[in-house]
Amino acid sequence: MNIHEYQAKQLLKTYGAPVAEGVAITSADEAAAAAAKLPGPLYVVKSQIHAGGRGKGKFKELGPDSKGGVRLAKSIDEVVANAKEMLGNTLVTKQTGPAGKQVNRLYIEDGADIARELYLSILVDRSAGGVAFVVSTEGGMDIEAVAEETPDKIVTVNIDPVAGVTDTDVAKIQQALALEEPAKGEMATLARQLYKAFTEKDMSLLEINPLIVMENGHIRVLDAKVSFDGNAMFRHPEVAELRDLTEEDAKEIEASKYDLAYVALDGTIGCMVNGAGLAMATMDIIKLYGEEPANFLDVGGGASKEKVTAAFKIITADPNVKGILVNIFGGIMRCDVIAEGVIAAVKEVGLKVPLVVRLEGTNVAQGKALLDGSGLAITSADDLDDAAQKIVAAVK
Ligand code: ADP
Ligand code: MG
Repeated sequence: MNIHEYQAKQLLKTYGAPVAEGVAITSADEAAAAAAKLPGPLYVVKSQIHAGGRGKGKFKELGPDSKGGVRLAKSIDEVVANAKEMLGNTLVTKQTGPAGKQVNRLYIEDGADIARELYLSILVDRSAGGVAFVVSTEGGMDIEAVAEETPDKIVTVNIDPVAGVTDTDVAKIQQALALEEPAKGEMATLARQLYKAFTEKDMSLLEINPLIVMENGHIRVLDAKVSFDGNAMFRHPEVAELRDLTEEDAKEIEASKYDLAYVALDGTIGCMVNGAGLAMATMDIIKLYGEEPANFLDVGGGASKEKVTAAFKIITADPNVKGILVNIFGGIMRCDVIAEGVIAAVKEVGLKVPLVVRLEGTNVAQGKALLDGSGLAITSADDLDDAAQKIVAAVK
């Protein structure tokens, strides 16, 4: 689960991290009052979307000469003018994809005098089996390019889960970032505050890019991207409240209500499968025969008729879907239950695209008989190859 920059900063502030003053707004009418609460004379107007690269992004509606999604303003009037231009428009960045994201919220923030832009993140380092700090002096720009072109400028400091952030770890971070006082001492405190926030709140990523050293020598968290481990959200109702459903795929939200593991993709073949491994294999074989899956969908081991119906509705609601492949192995799940679910769903939502069903396992004969006797235009398949070839042929 992701949250907005302004929410991440509010959270980090409760751990004592140095963040600028700022006010979040959702309409341009609020812009002047928001800016008036800040010290000035420099303000920053920041688009709040769940994607990075906002500074270098462009607003679709404003054409190729569009200014970015993070803008400096030298007066309250400029704040208001920028807010009017940004709110409601679609920001396209490297991370949003070509469709972009609508900006429904802005964060008006106190402008900082930046001397240096650094990079600092905390993440789960799977190869080391623990949490790690990743730092670089080359912050503020495309960190992926730094990783590719000058990987020696990125330093990883692994943290022992029992010892936590030690003085040795802090020294490594201070040295890697080439910090001098007072920033150096402030970094020691900040590293521990951020680590505490990361572990207490079950974060999976905490990225500060840039972390800045200001002209006055002090450090400040200038951007903050935080992702949480979705499986731990039951422990943090206060964090779950920060979820912004307008930033998420509507089909994925619907799927989560039915406990379906669903990920929307760009292809044309809707897939309904049980078991993550089988779902992956089904996506692979669709690609092998020359088409692309429209989604990943695992209905789980013990799916009910209601769950199958919900899954079917979610798949058919996607306008890109040109054909549907149901691939179920009846282990715990019975093939006749799947067949009933498919029939009920087709009767309810109608079938406007070809449907291929491959069933195998418990009660497969009853399942196939139900499908055959349903009077619906369902093509049955015997194995995975057969199923993939049939659905690909049907959509071509
Ligand atoms: P993104 O990473 O999505 O592009 P950032 O929050 O990192 O967004 O902002 C982009 C750039 O804008 C920063 O690298 C920094 O140079 C500048 N910037 C952001 N916030 C401020 C601020 N409060 N004061 C001064 N400059 C800022
Ligand atoms: Mg940034």
